[in-house]
Amino acid sequence: MEKIPARLAEVLNQRHVWPYAVENLDHVPIMTRKDYSRRAMPGGVRLLRSRRSDVFHYWPYGSEDLANTRPVWEWAATLAGIGADARVVVALDNDDARSLWAEGMVTIGRTVLAVRPENLSAGMKALQPTVLVTSPLLAYQAVLGQMLDGIDLLILTGSVGGGPGLRQKIHHRYPTIQIRQLYYIGEFSAPLAAECANGGLHWTTVGAEIEFLAVDRDETAHPGARARVVVSDLTDRAQPLLRYDTGDLVQVVASDCSCGAGGVVTHPLVLGKLENAPMVFGSRLYPGDFVEAIWGADGTGPHIGANVRLDRGRSKDQVTVCFEALPGFDLSHVKQSIADRFRKTFGFVPEVTTNFPPDFQPLLYVRDFRTGTGETSQ
Ligand SMILES: [Zn+2]
Repeated sequence: MEKIPARLAEVLNQRHVWPYAVENLDHVPIMTRKDYSRRAMPGGVRLLRSRRSDVFHYWPYGSEDLANTRPVWEWAATLAGIGADARVVVALDNDDARSLWAEGMVTIGRTVLAVRPENLSAGMKALQPTVLVTSPLLAYQAVLGQMLDGIDLLILTGSVGGGPGLRQKIHHRYPTIQIRQLYYIGEFSAPLAAECANGGLHWTTVGAEIEFLAVDRDETAHPGARARVVVSDLTDRAQPLLRYDTGDLVQVVASDCSCGAGGVVTHPLVLGKLENAPMVFGSRLYPGDFVEAIWGADGTGPHIGANVRLDRGRSKDQVTVCFEALPGFDLSHVKQSIADRFRKTFGFVPEVTTNFPPDFQPLLYVRDFRTGTGETSQ
């Protein structure tokens, strides 16, 4: 295992500001998503205070955290082009994320209205925003509902699904809207990456130390290779987020960008979580590529999904792609187009249907019939 980044080691050495200590700075273990959900520390990290409840808040968000992450919010808003005079509507499915985004934006001086997705239309009438912050799925629904009049800037949050296929569809109806991605995970109380005008996703150098590690080992990924995003939170004094493996994969494209914002730059389409990317016919079905293969086809609506039946011998693997058909398109043509895109991206042709399974959840639903577990990624 190689050494942790110098800046992280420096912060960890300041033991008075951290609620925990690391036994060996040369071997700081990676914290998995499982560790996090169990509120467990990886081996070699110990708490300096004895009562766990003093230290761990499951949800890291509080006014102090927000104050600490204010520079990160400011950095992300500026890079993504959200001006201080912007009127922002935040429409996200998740209650906590929605209120956190709203407060983050208010903290840095924007006029903000946070609305539930079902109230989006009313919210747009009330505030007449210039910026809409929402998920790729809701953005596409808003486009079809013709709700984006007056929007200059569309901010897509979450990790997967804001790729060129969806953007083309949005621009077909709203050619002048600028679209930017802000990468956000609930475990950190501000966006961790922001897309600049050049189309690269810049990872923050403010408030967090971000490492890009190889997919299969704890070493820095080669430039151009697919990489795991590992985050150390330098702002939160309550819940340690130390070398936390987000599970999300990205493709590092450059270490500098002509916009001058600095930081590592990746392709704006995040590939998604490895745990949601089964091997099918020997090729990895990354959520980002999967969403792009379907949303990139003409005539596909916002709701898409897949059932994956994995066979140990691989030869009997079965992939069924479900999609919502838009009116006015030849259905057999759309199905053929999706099949072609899968052949090109993944090297196999799935069964393509407009019939969703009864328990289908929006965006991406991959079911592994071998283990009987389902994973949803959004
Ligand atoms: Zn840039």
